[in-house]
Amino acid sequence: GFSYGGGLPVLSGLSLHVHPGESVAVMGPSGVGKSTLLSLLLLFYRPTSGEIYFDGRPAACYDLASLRRRVGYVPQRPRLFSGTILSNLRIGCSEAPASQVFAAAVLAGIHAEVLALPCGYETQVGEGGLKLSEGQKQRLAIARAVLKDAPILILDEATSSVDTETERQIQGAFDNLTRGRTTIAIAHRLSTLRRADRLVVLERGRIVEVGTHGELLERNGLYARLYNAQLEQATERLRL
Ligand code: ADP
Repeated sequence: GFSYGGGLPVLSGLSLHVHPGESVAVMGPSGVGKSTLLSLLLLFYRPTSGEIYFDGRPAACYDLASLRRRVGYVPQRPRLFSGTILSNLRIGCSEAPASQVFAAAVLAGIHAEVLALPCGYETQVGEGGLKLSEGQKQRLAIARAVLKDAPILILDEATSSVDTETERQIQGAFDNLTRGRTTIAIAHRLSTLRRADRLVVLERGRIVEVGTHGELLERNGLYARLYNAQLEQATERLRL
């Protein structure tokens, strides 16, 4: 259970067991507590009641820094800091050799684009630097997570629509990142929803449906309604 500053409960009675290597997509209407759940998993807040366990041990038993090293995070709107692309990629892994950074960028599908820039990895970005597209920033954030090589990944997918080619590039990068890792994502992309091992649907701070895409569509409940609404939006965008 969780509430902000002693306010009304945002999450209550929520229990979820995620297996190693499993990909879980969290879905639900806006304001239901999805980001709050991710913040708890990222250890930004402690649950108001109950506990989060990693490999069967309560989070409180671990050294926070070592636990954070084991959890990678790709936010919805990744931020770039003033500096070169190389230094931005090395955030959190300052000792990584250039060859390792390049390999991560290859996996994230951004290496060729970086090399095509006049200054390549030495290109200045962030405030006053070259402006990168949202799709490029997403893939740089994915490369950062690949470099970190954490066994657990927390992903907050962007809600904004991108063109089909960018979507394809980002999806490919996410596929490479998540392979073999335990992944918990706030999912907005139809492809993520369809492919997740398990979908968890939240309503009013509680889990109301759990299952695969097929199972939940058949159930014809909240997931089916949300999925169909998203499908309609995507089809509408294609028509425009
Ligand atoms: P979702 O990600 O599903 O849209 P959130 O986890 O962002 O939902 O929000 C759940 C509820 O918690 C909302 O009522 C929101 O207003 C509230 N909330 C989110 N962040 C904070 C915060 N930092 N302080 C107080 N209330 C918050």
